[in-house]
Amino acid sequence: MTPLTYQVGACRVHLISDGAYLTDGGGAFGLVPRLMWEKIIQPDPLNRILLELYCCVIETDEGPILVDTGHGTKLPQKRQQQFGLVKPPQLIEELAGLGLRPADIRFVINTHLHADHCGGNTRYDADGHPVPTFSRATYFVQRLELADAAYPNERTRNTYFPENFLPLADAGRLHVFSGDAQITPQVRVQVTPGHTRAHQVVVIESQGETAIFLGDAAGLAVYLERLAWVPAFDVEPLVSIETKRSLRAWAWRREALLLFQHDGALPAGRIAPGDNENAHWRVTPVATASSIQQE
Ligand SMILES: [Zn+2]
Repeated sequence: MTPLTYQVGACRVHLISDGAYLTDGGGAFGLVPRLMWEKIIQPDPLNRILLELYCCVIETDEGPILVDTGHGTKLPQKRQQQFGLVKPPQLIEELAGLGLRPADIRFVINTHLHADHCGGNTRYDADGHPVPTFSRATYFVQRLELADAAYPNERTRNTYFPENFLPLADAGRLHVFSGDAQITPQVRVQVTPGHTRAHQVVVIESQGETAIFLGDAAGLAVYLERLAWVPAFDVEPLVSIETKRSLRAWAWRREALLLFQHDGALPAGRIAPGDNENAHWRVTPVATASSIQQE
């Protein structure tokens, strides 16, 4: 895929694809009846919808930052089928398209440690041991997210896989935060609980412009337009609603560029309230920097 590139002040920000996967519509939309959500996304005959899996590359003065790493290359065939992968993971090839080798990545930020967000953190070496894929990068994750991932329960153990994060600690590459943190002068993380207890979004601020990579705080634009539309996957759905309420008000005031990790139809946009009290908030798509140049 050609990367989707956006200019945020002095930073260039790219969405690159690690593939796409089919997931159950009921999982994606929770309590929302299919009669409502199928008007927005058409399911296949097995009630599954196609989700994109974008990772984000931020070019900064301190070097390239990679946000999330997709499913990675370690999944056995059976798991790939369970997860509904329709395209093989391709993150390394997509990075090469930007002229980046794995060793060029300076920082890796995981929004959270679900398998589709951190599987590419590690790869198997020639002896079959999981080792950091980005050998010179420091990886950032929230301390509470790491604790939840390291000690999963019956509901979370099918997405928290230790081989995706424990080898980073063994290699001395993992740095944990407890709360919001500034990574570089232009990039910070903000804890946004709900999808998981310590999910974090990534905020890019440069020359008065703002962008936010939302991860699973709102993987699809419609999740931010309609607060009650919360995936069944979220561990704290009522907290998700409050997180989204404050995120979108802040994003509207800042005229922030919103980057939606799973939304192939609307990967980037800006949000504003509806015209009247009963109207939905709306996300308006934003064109990529390259398509602006072509106009
Ligand atoms: Zn997730």
